Amino acid sequence: MPYHRPEDTDFALWELDVLDRSCPGCGRMMYICDHRYRRLHTLQGPVELLCKLNHCPDPHCPGHTRTESPELEATIAPPHWAIGWDVFCWIGHRRCARHRSIPLIRSELIDAHRIKLSEDAIAGYIQRYQAMLAARQQDPEALRRHYEAVEEIILSIDGLQPEKGHETLDVVRELTGKRVWFAEALLSATADEVGRLIARAKAWAEHLDKTVVLWISDKQDAFVTAIAAEFPDVPHRYCDNHFLRDVAKPVLEADSHAKVQMRKKVRGLRGVERAVLKHQRRSTPDGDASDPAASLTLLADPATSCASEIDTACDVVLDYCAAVRGILNDDQGGPLHPPGLRMAEALQEVRDSIRRDRDEQKGGSPRSNSDGWPAASTGAWTMCEPSTRRSATTSKTSKRSPQPSNPDGTPS
Ligand SMILES: [Zn+2]
Repeated sequence: MPYHRPEDTDFALWELDVLDRSCPGCGRMMYICDHRYRRLHTLQGPVELLCKLNHCPDPHCPGHTRTESPELEATIAPPHWAIGWDVFCWIGHRRCARHRSIPLIRSELIDAHRIKLSEDAIAGYIQRYQAMLAARQQDPEALRRHYEAVEEIILSIDGLQPEKGHETLDVVRELTGKRVWFAEALLSATADEVGRLIARAKAWAEHLDKTVVLWISDKQDAFVTAIAAEFPDVPHRYCDNHFLRDVAKPVLEADSHAKVQMRKKVRGLRGVERAVLKHQRRSTPDGDASDPAASLTLLADPATSCASEIDTACDVVLDYCAAVRGILNDDQGGPLHPPGLRMAEALQEVRDSIRRDRDEQKGGSPRSNSDGWPAASTGAWTMCEPSTRRSATTSKTSKRSPQPSNPDGTPS
């Protein structure tokens, strides 16, 4: 793939020569017949490789028509790549061990190493990295070494979805050596298809000559029957994570309901942001922010605040909006820390933060904050207590302005 670097790139020159210069055909000493230049990125900076190509001086020797490249070249970078192995491993590690997104890897490469790659190129390298990693993980000899000290093994199978929207991968893992054995995307997890995977796991265990003492999976019929068929005498335990999730189902349902309620209450973010942006566009140094058309007049008391203070206040409001949006869109969390609970805690933190800001402005004394941020004003995050009156007030006021009933109009 053609790769364009800035004109003024400063390349370190690495000269490489053939280590064994005796002709593979006749054994005579080979001569340098040509040079190959190649530029690539390494973690040490941009490098230009100068590869000295050798051939046999005897025109009748088969070694005369084929050139020998320096052996070391392949240890620096595979043919035709724009990056060295070190950058390749860095990318693979970021992706597979740190779970970084491709855009993030791209910007980290630029920031930390001044290496500019397209997202497509990074995706291509990641694919190769995964192929190599899978081949390495499944190498029978490496596997045998890994399990040398282990007597008994515990196997598990589960359907995973590594990335949203992608097909489900059925993954067979071994828990004593903590290794993924293999994974396959099954179009339909029928008993036959799953049976094939279980039989493969059995073949691997036999090849390693290890005793399977336990299987762990969820209670899917296909798993249960296939494991019973291939491993009739091995106990099969259901996965405690799935068990916990099932037990917690009613909690999660209530939690999900609470999330809906909270999202219903904290509305009008876009309206607030639009009003702030409109206000910022309109405000001029002489402070005509008191223009009645601007919906944020309360932010700008011309008597006490200057334009830069108003700007700062606007930025603060926008930052709060961004934070609250992030909280409302966060769906992380499991049965032990449900997403709704996390959301309530995070919103409470925002509420505390706003109150601190306001108290500071007013010189300290914590107020009864019934005139504060309305949705947050009454401890209404207790989940299943949707007071219709209160939420009606909330949505009405929060649509109007971020500080709807701030009576003294101090800049927030
Ligand atoms: Zn020769």
